[in-house]
Amino acid sequence: MNLTSVLSDIVLAALVASPFILIFVLGEKNMLARAGRIERVRQSKYTTKDLLFGSRYTASTVFIWFLFDRLDSIFTQQGWSLVYRDNTQHGWIYFTLSFLLFFLVYDLWTFSFHFSLHHFKCLRKFHSVHHQNETSPMGAFAFHPVEAVLFRLPITLAKLFVPLPYSVFVWFYIIVIAHTVYIHMGYDFKGLSTKFILTSRFHSLHHRNPHHNFGLFFGIWDTFFGTATGVNKK
Ligand SMILES: [Zn+2]
Ligand SMILES: [Zn+2]
Repeated sequence: MNLTSVLSDIVLAALVASPFILIFVLGEKNMLARAGRIERVRQSKYTTKDLLFGSRYTASTVFIWFLFDRLDSIFTQQGWSLVYRDNTQHGWIYFTLSFLLFFLVYDLWTFSFHFSLHHFKCLRKFHSVHHQNETSPMGAFAFHPVEAVLFRLPITLAKLFVPLPYSVFVWFYIIVIAHTVYIHMGYDFKGLSTKFILTSRFHSLHHRNPHHNFGLFFGIWDTFFGTATGVNKK
């Protein structure tokens, strides 16, 4: 069985299932909410319309990223991919550094790209799809097809030009799905720091005030470039 196709299925399943799981876990009537551990960071409670928001665009993003997975498989079959399966092939130091640098570089790319989507008129209309509503888990991957392609393209290019361990991509998919859904939950744990790992509160503020908070994973870029707002506020 082709591992890439298995991964595609996992990505698809996680994309579809995780919003519903997280709503269940982080809703307003569960144990954590009753204990005062979580709070709503979106302005209003969810309506059915909010929950369904973006599902059409989310479906198109899933389909586009699935096509990219197929394309990556073809490149692998042609022998063009530099992705390696044996973690020890380039040594453990290279393996560890490639893990850290991949996340850091991809995060800088998403910060820069997200900033451009808001500041260049030709790109703004594509990103307006994602900003049609407040944060919503089903809308976490609601992107215009052009934006979906541009977010995914660097992954395919990285596979062609940089020798990276296969496990980096497995963890990347899992973390990016879970974290992107989390920051679109509209709920957050009380008192969570936003300095290093970005929170739902941080991204909710971006949906209300699109001139700030462009980061995806890490708080360093917004802090460094002076675009952070509401950091660490309850
Ligand atoms: Zn968003
Ligand atoms: Zn935005």
